[in-house]
Amino acid sequence: MYGRTNTCSLQGLEGNLVEVETDIARGLPRMTIVGLPDAAIRESVERVRSAIKNTGYEFPMSRITVNLSPANIKKDGSQMDLAIAISILTANQLIHNENLESFVFLGELQLNGDVGAILGALPMVIFLRSLGYKKCIVPKENVEECAVIHDMEIYPVENLREVVEFLNGELEISSYYIENPMKKERVYSVDFSEIQGQEQIKRAMEIAAAGGHNILMIGPPGSGKSMSAKRFPTILPDMTFEEAVEVTQIYSVAGLLNSKELMTERPFRAPHHTASSVSLIGGGRIPKPGEISLSHHGVLFLDEIPEFQSKVLEVLRQPMEEGMIHIARANASLIYPANFQLIAALNPCPCGNYGNQNQSCSCSVNQIQRYLAKISHPLLDRIDIHVEVAPVEYSDLQSKKKQSTSAEIRERVEKAIEIQRIRYKELGFRNNANLPDKYLKEFCPLEESSKKIMEMAYQKYKFSARSLNKLLKIARTIADLKGNDKIEDGDVLEAIRYRSIESKYWGNV
Ligand SMILES: [Zn+2]
Repeated sequence: MYGRTNTCSLQGLEGNLVEVETDIARGLPRMTIVGLPDAAIRESVERVRSAIKNTGYEFPMSRITVNLSPANIKKDGSQMDLAIAISILTANQLIHNENLESFVFLGELQLNGDVGAILGALPMVIFLRSLGYKKCIVPKENVEECAVIHDMEIYPVENLREVVEFLNGELEISSYYIENPMKKERVYSVDFSEIQGQEQIKRAMEIAAAGGHNILMIGPPGSGKSMSAKRFPTILPDMTFEEAVEVTQIYSVAGLLNSKELMTERPFRAPHHTASSVSLIGGGRIPKPGEISLSHHGVLFLDEIPEFQSKVLEVLRQPMEEGMIHIARANASLIYPANFQLIAALNPCPCGNYGNQNQSCSCSVNQIQRYLAKISHPLLDRIDIHVEVAPVEYSDLQSKKKQSTSAEIRERVEKAIEIQRIRYKELGFRNNANLPDKYLKEFCPLEESSKKIMEMAYQKYKFSARSLNKLLKIARTIADLKGNDKIEDGDVLEAIRYRSIESKYWGNV
């Protein structure tokens, strides 16, 4: 007696279709699963047996062989339980459905026959859709995340009995979808208007948001570095549906999808400086996405960046360049997206008081140099905007001056982003931060007077060629924020400020 069903496994966000075949033959009662199953799937034998018995169906007292194919792909995850159970019940002639082949089954089985939530439901459904599958049985707990996909019938189930009765035509289950998953209004618990004064950091953040630039803040403790970083997502534009789906898939695989539905807010991640390389870039026995992937389309905030282990910081360089991360496994490598905006913050010295007129610094020159040297030049190189944050002025705290709200800043940012989108539409990149150097002459032309300013700054700050290029890109963003096609002297002067800090603290290379 024979039964056959479909299910799915994941490598990163990439799906693999898995066929589950069951053969029931005469012989001593025994159930074996073949076809490269991992430990979780081998445990599935006990779950499936108990679930079938406890649902009240007969579990065949024969020799049962379950084959997962294709055999050459390592399969992990407990989401195959349901397909295995349905395959056995079909082989045992308890399910009669001529269209069984058109369904894909996803779900972990509990011993009592309930169908439990799984990791990675959304990426699996998206993958199955790409293969042309139209019907997917999913655990009820995963239905909200899956139901954003419209051209697929998603059937939520709570237990094995429901699935069997549905397939036998004894129970009706309606497929479920969410009409408009992006409708939700964004509501943030924080706002830029709560920060009094600190105009230079707010301005730098506006430019960073508008041009997609990474940003590094250097300043004493309590100067509002973390406060500003937390508010950065509030000035970024809404995610598109495609971006929201990408982000949700990553959280689905990581098991971090708290609301169980489409994530429409940009992520903000702030890993502690004790974070390991694996927790930052991803990995593990069943490789999970790390902080850099959980920050995809959002913000990765590294506070006290010199406190991170140097080797942990160095692993950031490749994904910052490529917008994705390759994770090596025993017999394959997998890819997670990691296109994030980096906000880094540090004190000017180990005690935090260097350069502060009201407090004295107790650090030796050596200590300060060692501290700053933890951030390598190649890493600094990937951060366009550097900004010094001064301690909060007493007069700022008392000021009743109305501060720009996040919504007001976001409006300006969105306009500048739109200008870049149109300008670079045909060229394969989106913003000034990603503008390849070969296009600088075309998109960042300077007036004679601006060129003179650049030359003077070059002499004064000993800028490198790469620093000059970054400066041009920042000036481009400043002009875009004003809606100007032409880069003016003032734009160049302002951009110089965001590049001159490196030589002050780190010297030149
Ligand atoms: Zn100090």
